[in-house]
Amino acid sequence: MAEAYNPQNIFARILRGEIPCKKVHETAHSLAFHDINPLSPVHVLVIPKGAYVGFDDFSAKASAEEMADYVKAIGDVARQLGVATDGYRLLSNCGANANQEVPHLHVHIFGGRPLGRMLKKDGE
Ligand code: AMP
Repeated sequence: MAEAYNPQNIFARILRGEIPCKKVHETAHSLAFHDINPLSPVHVLVIPKGAYVGFDDFSAKASAEEMADYVKAIGDVARQLGVATDGYRLLSNCGANANQEVPHLHVHIFGGRPLGRMLKKDGE
């Protein structure tokens, strides 16, 4: 069975205004803010406002309006941050094998430098 949504997760607390974030962009259904521990010159997280554990949950349960808003927000944020011209990477960790740390769907936008290969091959 899929993991139940935990309303005490850190991104739920950001959405409720209980803890601050460095906001980049906000729409009816999505919020983007700077990652607290950036791994590249641009490292922003885009989250849906709805209570979705990860991509699996969101893709199964979100409304078409939420999905459209979220996809558009990700693209708009990348353009707003100026990384669309030189390129950027989207990454969303989903579940245990991906080491997802925060159980609220988020897409990382990485950019601002060449990002190297996507993953190491098995055994490297
Ligand atoms: P993941 O492993 O994909 O679940 O990544 C979680 C991300 O959330 C990490 O890159 C953290 O640095 C980031 N993070 C954790 N807490 C906060 C916070 N309060 N504000 C912004 N980013 C955070």
